[in-house]
Parts: sequence; C-alpha cells; structure tokens
Amino acid sequence: MVIITLQRDKCIGCNYCYEFAPEYFRMSKKDGKSVLLKSNNRKGFHTLKTPNTDAIEPCEKAADACPVNIISVKVT
Ligand code: SF4
Repeated sequence: MVIITLQRDKCIGCNYCYEFAPEYFRMSKKDGKSVLLKSNNRKGFHTLKTPNTDAIEPCEKAADACPVNIISVKVT
C-alpha cells in the first residue's frame, strides 16, 4: 500500500507538487494551496492510501521538491 500525506495548512502554493504529480495534486482556485486528490482530512493531515505503486515515483518527486517538506510518501 502507498500512503501519501499532505499537511495542507503549511502549503505555500508553489505549484511543484502539481508539476511533478498532476494525477495526484491540484492547486485550489479558492485558497491557492495544494489539494491531494481523493484524500481524507484528519486534523489537517490529508491522506491518500492506494495500492497503485505507480503513485510512488511522481509523489516522491513532489515530496522532494516541496520547499516546506509537507508531503510524505510511505510504502507499506
Ligand atoms: S510543493 Fe509543497 S508548498 Fe508547493 S504547492 Fe505543493 S504542497 Fe504546497
């Protein structure tokens, strides 16, 4: 299982995650912050669990590029 987490409140809206992983992230037109698609919000941590291992590479690139380090990718 691939577990992707976004601590959305701290997003500075730089757009990198969307550039590296457009299938998983969008930029909100409302507040300019990143949205992790199909995620569940629990106390500000937006989490997507997926069995799709294709998510690992683009989401790890997004996590590496994020200047405020609020994206994590775990594989269990
Ligand atoms: S890379 Fe990080 S700071 Fe930039 S838009 Fe994505 S989550 Fe926000």
